[in-house]
Amino acid sequence: MSNTTFVPDGATYWAHYDHIGEIHGSFNIFEKMWAAWYAWIANDVLATGIMSFVMHELVYFGRSLPWMICDAIPYFQRWKIQDQKIPSYAEQWRCIKSVLFTHCVIELPQIWLFHPFAKAAGMSTDVPFPAWTTMAFQIAVFFVLEDAWHYWFHRLFHWGPFYKHIHKIHHEHSAPFGLAAEYAHPVEVMMLGLGTVLPPIAWCWFSSDFHILTMYVWICLRLFQAIDAHSGYDFPWSLHHFLPFWAGASHHDVHHEKFIGNYASSFRWWDYVLDTEAGAEAQQRRRDKKRAERDAKAIREQQMLSMESMGKDAAVMKSQIAVDKKTL
Ligand SMILES: [Zn+2]
Ligand SMILES: [Zn+2]
Repeated sequence: MSNTTFVPDGATYWAHYDHIGEIHGSFNIFEKMWAAWYAWIANDVLATGIMSFVMHELVYFGRSLPWMICDAIPYFQRWKIQDQKIPSYAEQWRCIKSVLFTHCVIELPQIWLFHPFAKAAGMSTDVPFPAWTTMAFQIAVFFVLEDAWHYWFHRLFHWGPFYKHIHKIHHEHSAPFGLAAEYAHPVEVMMLGLGTVLPPIAWCWFSSDFHILTMYVWICLRLFQAIDAHSGYDFPWSLHHFLPFWAGASHHDVHHEKFIGNYASSFRWWDYVLDTEAGAEAQQRRRDKKRAERDAKAIREQQMLSMESMGKDAAVMKSQIAVDKKTL
């Protein structure tokens, strides 16, 4: 940050904060804190890396905590989708250890590499922040793109060898819980993680209009989506009751229960259009569709038969008329 070079080396974070406040009086408190952070660390890659990793861990475990509390209180079981299956403390602890391992080994390098890649593609880390409408639009696009990426790669991971050697780990929990959102083979964490990281980099590359704050908000919302989808709870106020195309927990829970179908992450449209929906309702719809197709085919065959017999009758009548004409 060039605007803080007047502060002596070794100055405290708050000295940077005060200095930025003096020369940029129009900045709000968050913008001043943001600029002070980058100035204090004095290394943008390190500043982004630390902030991103800490934020990721806080959001991941912070968002999983309410679901762990719900699992510990019997009152909430009335909204549990698979109500017989509450994860044990041992199961949750094993999951925490595994998730921490993949966060450090797989996600930390991805987080670290994001800054130089995105910076090269034109990402901004400066203040002031972008307008919230710009951020909202870009995040909506990322949700749509990530959902498509997730659908196809998740579907691919259900193919024989990939399922056996990679995706099976994620399916160890047939009744998922919040913490299990990123409980998966490192290859899967990396491949599905690219669906979250690549759209912002591509956006940067093509538009040169992207701020890293948008990335942070996007990551937070994506983590909320993934953890909530694995929560195992469907409340009357859950989002998909108001937005029917939103996937939510009821969509992904069936995927874990049935091991097939419902491959998308955030939305229901890919599974609907490509007929890969899971669950009893979808099966009933498929049966109804097959029955309707069978009935329509039978009607068509009946119509063909009657048309054929009508054609034969007409031919007989025609030859009869010809015979009658000759005899007259
Ligand atoms: Zn799966
Ligand atoms: Zn899952």
